[in-house]
Formats: sequence, C-alpha cells, structure tokens
Amino acid sequence: MSDFWTHCLAHFQTTLNPQQVNTWIKPLTVSEADGEISISAPNRFVAQWIKDKFLGEIEHLATAFFKKPYRVSLGVDENRGKTSRAETTETPVKDLPVAVKPKERSKSGRILPDEETRLNPLFSFDNFVRGKANDLARAAALQVADNPGSGYNPLFVYGGVGLGKTHLIQAIGNKVLENDPQAKVRYIHAERYVSDMVKAFRHKSFDDFKHKYDRLDVLLIDDIQFFAGKDRTQEEFFYTFNNLIESHKQVIITSDSFPKDLEGIEERLKSRFSWGLTVMLDPPELEMRVAILLNRAQLDGKVLDENTAFFIAKQVRSNVRELEGALKRVFAFSHFHKQPVSVDLAKEALKDLLAVQNRQISIENIQKTVADFYKIKVAEMYSKKRTRILARPRQIAMHLAKELTDLSLPEIGAAFGGRDHTTVLHAYRKVEELKGSDTSLRRDYNLLLQVLTG
Ligand code: ADP
Ligand code: MG
Repeated sequence: MSDFWTHCLAHFQTTLNPQQVNTWIKPLTVSEADGEISISAPNRFVAQWIKDKFLGEIEHLATAFFKKPYRVSLGVDENRGKTSRAETTETPVKDLPVAVKPKERSKSGRILPDEETRLNPLFSFDNFVRGKANDLARAAALQVADNPGSGYNPLFVYGGVGLGKTHLIQAIGNKVLENDPQAKVRYIHAERYVSDMVKAFRHKSFDDFKHKYDRLDVLLIDDIQFFAGKDRTQEEFFYTFNNLIESHKQVIITSDSFPKDLEGIEERLKSRFSWGLTVMLDPPELEMRVAILLNRAQLDGKVLDENTAFFIAKQVRSNVRELEGALKRVFAFSHFHKQPVSVDLAKEALKDLLAVQNRQISIENIQKTVADFYKIKVAEMYSKKRTRILARPRQIAMHLAKELTDLSLPEIGAAFGGRDHTTVLHAYRKVEELKGSDTSLRRDYNLLLQVLTG
C-alpha cells in the first residue's frame, strides 16, 4: 500500500504546488483492506476538499497502479494529530455528559438519575458566552427553552466542531427542567441513539425503546450527521420525529452542516429538519474568545489577566474547544513550573501549538487556499483586474489575512499586488458586511477559516 501512496504523492507533487501538497495530500493516511483503499483525512474540511477535487484522480491512479478497478473510500479521523493535546482528543461519544452528583443538580433541586435525561447541569445559558457568532442561535435556543413545542420546531443548530452546539442544546434541556421539573427531557448523541436502537432490536425490546422516545416532551439529539447511511435508524427516527412534532413536543437537533448538505440522510428527513428554524454557530471573534477564556478561568477558580487572555485568544482561533484546551495547557504549565500565569508563560506553554500554526498561516497560504477554493489563479490575487469574480475572493483573502496574520493593513496591501491600505480596509468591511447578509458567503468564509486554522 505504501508503494501506491508513494506513487500518488509523486504524482501530486508534479501536478500541484508544494503548499497544496502539504495542505491537502500529506495529511492523509491510507490503508487497504479487501480490495478497497481507505483514505483518512484529519478533519472533515480536508475530507470534503479531497472528495471534491482529488478523489476521482486517486481512483484513476489506483486503477492504473493495480491494473484493476479499485474502490477508494474516504473518512475522517477526528482524533488524529491531536495526541499532544490531551484535552482535545475526545471523540464525539465523549460529548456525552459526565455523571454529576445529585447536589450539583439544577436550581429546582430536582434530583434525576443522569441516565434519564443525560443532561449535564454544568452546560447552562449562564455560562454560555454571548457574541456575534452565536447571537441568533442563542436567542432561538432561549426562546425554545421557554416555550418548548410551541415555537420553532424542530430547532436545528449547525456549525463546525467545538463551536458550542452540545453546550447550547444541553442548556436548553436544563432550562426546560428548571422551568418545569416534571418535563420529560432527553439528550442523546446520535451515535448512541443508533447503538441503543441496535441493542433494542437484538434484545427484542424495541417497543420499550420506541416508547421511551414517544413519551418525551423535549428530545435533544446531537450530531445527527452520525445517522448517515444508517437507513433503518433513519426510518425509525422519521416516525419518532413526526410523532413528537405532531403532538407539539419539542425536537432539537444539532449537526455539522446545513440540513440540505447532510450526506447519507434521507431526503424526507432533511426536508423535515428545515421545517422549524435553522440557526448556525460561527467561529467566535476575538473579543468573544477573550470573554470565553475569562469566563472559563473564573468557573475553574483560576486567575487569568486580560493580557494573557488576549494573547491566547489571538493564537487559537479555530474553535472554543481548542481555545479551552490551550487554556488548560497554560494552567497546567503554570502549576508544574510553579510560576504565575503571564503572557510569557503562555508563550512558553503553547510553543508547540504556535509553531504549528505559524508555519501554516502565511499570507501566501491564505492566498493559495482562497484561490484554490474559488478556482482562480493565485496570480489573480495580485493582479489589477477588478472583475467581481476576482474581486470577491481577493477581498475574502484580505479579510482572512487581517484576521489570521499579524500583518498591518499596508503590509497586507503590499502582498496583494501593492494595493493601498484603504483598499484592504474596504475589503475587510465589505466582507464583514456580507458575512452578516449573505449566508453562502458566510459558509464559504467559515469553511476557509477552519481549513486554514486546522
Ligand atoms: P460542539 O458540540 O459544537 O462540538 P461543544 O458544545 O462541545 O461544541 O463546545 C466545546 C467546548 O466549548 C465546551 O466545553 C463548551 O462548554 C465550550 N463553549 C462553546 N461555546 C461556548 C460559549 N459561547 N461560551 C462558553 N463556553 C463555550
Ligand atoms: Mg458536540
């Protein structure tokens, strides 16, 4: 297998530039079993990109190399490349709430076996930091928590990993219970739902399984993309879903993508998912990242000054989970070295992380990634042409350069074919404005941001 992959790498090294090879091809791992080649990508953004752009080519190469048709499958290995960050290696299954002691129950004082609701009271609205990135989602979630079943149904929350989906829907569950301790609420991760259902079939206890869901007032189902390809689960869920909605019970769903973009999910389910309200969680902006860090430190009873919070927030941009992981590292470092937390200490504690990021996010990298994404030439990033088809990607690249590098506006202008700093500022403001009004642009932007920040 390694021979084949060496062959592929050699091929791509001649057809792509080194940066593209490093970004898209090298992070892949490849294995073979039963006449099928499995490619695993470090995250779903890379996976999507490979699927769109290179999968066909890899299949051709495989057929030519092995002299017979080969199937190539593509998957995501969420845990890979994160082993040095112990806090971030959780698989989605571990999103399941930790067991909590009864005395930590909600303010209502109601003591419920965790097994029943699967809610973790530590995920509350109180400690969910607000910002532009989650304003709409948070408002919708609050609204649903206060009027379950009578407003937006289902509420569909989507966004990239670590942006707060689980936190937000768990907060809804907790608030519903706070308002009405008798409410029947259940949180479940989609993967767990699938395995519970399989078990129910095996133990011939399917009626019990079904009954457990049909009698709920609020069903919170997390990471619905895990239903992909599970036809039997989808069929059963379809009935449960309809039942709940028809009897005005609240359904809340999270996913890593927009309903219509879910792959391997039946059309009729996808269309129903859009019946209520669909809201998105964006990556948090700088100020919000700082607020999240300060909030987290306070919850953990630790001291964190604003300068250090700003420093960490500037370095870790991709998502909240990574941000919290970085903070944990800083505190652990401070503890082991018996030194107070400071910017210098944070620099030291996050050295590896920063080295990786600084290597990746150069302005050239941004220009190439954005150019690839919009299928234009990199040279068109610097060219004087102002047609819209070039201007928009260029503005997005400028915006990303401002967000992701430490370069000043004049420096960014210079890197884009010697443009004036006011042009960069205009581009920045334009993209900010469009992110608010144009959902497809916002989706592209977030995708690029996550690709660039890994
Ligand atoms: P997702 O389910 O989208 O992958 P999570 O809900 O698991 O993300 O969030 C990851 C971590 O970040 C959790 O510890 C969560 O509490 C925290 N988090 C996310 N968003 C916020 C926020 N707005 N305020 C405070 N903490 C947040
Ligand atoms: Mg989650």
